[in-house]
Amino acid sequence: MQKTYRIAILLLGLIAARSDAPREQMIILGQAFQQLNTQIREQTLTPDSAQMRFQAIMLQLREVTDPLRQKSCNDSIRFVFPLKDYDAENIGGNGFGFRPRGFNLFDHGVQGSHPAHDIFVYDRNQDNIDDQTDLPVDVLAMRPGVVVATEANWTRESSYRGGNFVWIYDPCLDGLFYYAHHSKVIVNVGDEVVAGQKIAEVGRTGLNAAKPRSGTHLHLMYLQLTPDALPQPINTYDWLADAEVIR
Ligand SMILES: [Zn+2]
Repeated sequence: MQKTYRIAILLLGLIAARSDAPREQMIILGQAFQQLNTQIREQTLTPDSAQMRFQAIMLQLREVTDPLRQKSCNDSIRFVFPLKDYDAENIGGNGFGFRPRGFNLFDHGVQGSHPAHDIFVYDRNQDNIDDQTDLPVDVLAMRPGVVVATEANWTRESSYRGGNFVWIYDPCLDGLFYYAHHSKVIVNVGDEVVAGQKIAEVGRTGLNAAKPRSGTHLHLMYLQLTPDALPQPINTYDWLADAEVIR
């Protein structure tokens, strides 16, 4: 089995290296990441194999996005609050919702950790419409980056915890932002986004997020890549508290 994955990774590398346009390369890597996500979720890969594939994809992504890094990374790292018209006051659990203990991106069987913050919107009747504005709430990219995976077709029959989601790789921070539970996703794999760009609308998709006991919220996670491209959850509370709010 391991050999097959190694060959797949090698092929992936060759394909990515051969296509000229960075966008094309990013789409190929994004599709590989998307497929890996599905395999982890459906537990059709061992955690070890999943980790190897993840590292291979991320190392490639680092290379492919190097021109972006040269072009757009500077010293001042700026964040946009990921919900339009909302701010850090709306972070759940008084900001203590981040529980990274036991997190393993590669083993879907391991549960109980929450290496993320949930940001709640005013939606008492749970119809995905903001009680204050009568409009859906826009989910905004916190940072510039490249969309590397999306799910837009979650249904109630599906047991997926994330529901509809967006993964964005930030070449400057060298990490991955994960935004989940959307009603609607409006970006595609391979898209380059800027900070503050609308990527989705807040929703109630996902196994637990769809239940009546759950308030309508955005689930936000950031995974910092280590030098050997392993994912490490970071508490984004300070970034959220300092972020620019868009109204
Ligand atoms: Zn959450």
